[in-house]
Amino acid sequence: MNTALKGACLCGSVQFKTIMNPSWVGICHCTSCRKATGGAINGACGFPKSSVNLKGNSLRYFESSPGVRRGFCSKCGTSLSYENALWSEDIHLMIGAFDCPELLEPHFHIFTKDQLSWMIFTDELVRYTTTPSNGDTQ
Ligand SMILES: [Zn+2]
Ligand SMILES: [Zn+2]
Repeated sequence: MNTALKGACLCGSVQFKTIMNPSWVGICHCTSCRKATGGAINGACGFPKSSVNLKGNSLRYFESSPGVRRGFCSKCGTSLSYENALWSEDIHLMIGAFDCPELLEPHFHIFTKDQLSWMIFTDELVRYTTTPSNGDTQ
């Protein structure tokens, strides 16, 4: 995998770059990601905040739950980032906003408790009912 990963929103106003590979890559099934992205699932990957440069005039944040802020482009609406006060050193970036999403192969599923019943996966990835830090695998 590349050691300098780049991405941008749909209109290109907000851009990001990371100086390292992600600590993890996951597919999130939570209701909040579903609403925030408009997609049936959301692919995200985690980085230390210090390794990510996310910037652009149209970058805005929405507090989707207490202590959680989601970054998006106010021009085109692309969902870009997720930060949670529980993991204040980390930032999650949405796989779909990277220039090279093909390289970001997921390691696990999270929040499968919210997974849509018609969405069937045949992969052998670990499935967490909520998060890896809770460790509640199915
Ligand atoms: Zn944009
Ligand atoms: Zn989610």
